[in-house]
Amino acid sequence: MTLFSKIINGDIPSDKVYEDQECYAFRDINPQAPVHILVVPRKEIPNVGAAGKDEKMLLGHLLSTAAEIAASQGLADSGYRLVINTGADGGQTVDHLHIHILGGRPMAWPPG
Ligand code: 5GP
Repeated sequence: MTLFSKIINGDIPSDKVYEDQECYAFRDINPQAPVHILVVPRKEIPNVGAAGKDEKMLLGHLLSTAAEIAASQGLADSGYRLVINTGADGGQTVDHLHIHILGGRPMAWPPG
């Protein structure tokens, strides 16, 4: 079981922001911005590249849910960044697909 599955099932406590049948969202333990939330599918998909053809609906749901959560956090007007780190060069440290919602400050480009 992944770290994020343990968070989703309550074995590890989390600061929940949102949940539905497909996904669970909670605040990052090491926030990189005033708002830093992770949106995680309940299904243990290791990364976005590992998502199958039958998971396209789920990927869309995660993206639209992330936008809804960002809006619920008051970020719609100021803007925000959605990030999906993938693999070693992508900086992924937890092998359970997740979208980072980052907001509340201007984001630099290019990213580090
Ligand atoms: P990644 O580096 O894989 O894209 O993102 C993993 C994220 O999970 C990191 O931003 C890290 O701070 C966060 N994280 C790791 N362990 C925990 C935890 O136990 N609780 C919470 N809330 N976030 C965690």
